[in-house]
Amino acid sequence: MTAGRLAPSPTGAQHLGNARTYLIAYWSARSLGKRLVLRIEDIDSPRVKPWAVQQAIDDLRWLGISWDEGPDIGGPHEPYIQTLRRSRYEEALEHLISINRVYPCTCSRRDIAEAGSAPHFEHEGHVYPGTCATWSKGDPLPESGSYCWRFRITENLVHFDDLVGGSQSCSPARHLGDFPVTQKSGNISYHLAVVCDDHSMGITEVVRGDDLLPSTFRHLDLATVIGMTPPQYAHVPLVLGPDGRRLAKRHGDTRLATLRQRGITPEQIVGWAAHSAGFIDDLQRCQADDVIESFSWDKLHRQPVIADDTFGLS
Ligand code: GLU
Repeated sequence: MTAGRLAPSPTGAQHLGNARTYLIAYWSARSLGKRLVLRIEDIDSPRVKPWAVQQAIDDLRWLGISWDEGPDIGGPHEPYIQTLRRSRYEEALEHLISINRVYPCTCSRRDIAEAGSAPHFEHEGHVYPGTCATWSKGDPLPESGSYCWRFRITENLVHFDDLVGGSQSCSPARHLGDFPVTQKSGNISYHLAVVCDDHSMGITEVVRGDDLLPSTFRHLDLATVIGMTPPQYAHVPLVLGPDGRRLAKRHGDTRLATLRQRGITPEQIVGWAAHSAGFIDDLQRCQADDVIESFSWDKLHRQPVIADDTFGLS
């Protein structure tokens, strides 16, 4: 059976931009009768805030989003919390080591600091120069704690068809470079965890912000090497502030928990999201389930959404 997923990272509160992406993922899954999985992506220690897990669940429910499997309701692919799934990621890492597709890398912390989190656009760094890539399986390992495992990315062109952006191709070796699949602490990186989970949870459609599009080339390469069938991807244009930059704190407080306290209703947010995405003609209040019928990828506006400072919520 086909399945979509919601994958919040509890590194802070969920905000309006996240809400819009989750709603689109929800509408897509529900309009086609897909199973929907909620997975908590909490491996980005120490940035994870324990309170943010329950708050993300509360925010989603408040928006009127429901799911068929998740940490709060269980399901056949338990556990739904990444920190409890470590053995699965380690198995995949062992496989990558056994086929010499990763190498221990002792390069500076700065190079690998972002390994635990999804690299949203502004964090895409320089291409790793391959300093440690001469290691091969069987060579001695550096001192424990002094290295991360780095994945040897393919030299080939990688191509996929995005449900939103259409045909996408990239030469990952040239543009992205070898990337860490663990941190020096041994923690598994976002990239390896997400690929393993999407596969083992039977996810067939990934809806996420288009700032993660470069990562998809990494994920496709990893999936191929590990022998996993990749899902279809839909990279949704981001919500930008009035200055054209990605929605952030400088644009005001758009945390859903704050909006809720201010008396904003979920119907206002859902109406704004549905209208800005192109699924309803007029900016009006509505419930998440009312939009399912009008959803189609063809209708989705392809350009980023510029939010004014009221988001149509005043
Ligand atoms: N958990 C990631 C984030 O919130 C999303 C990753 C993904 O959709 O692949 O940034």
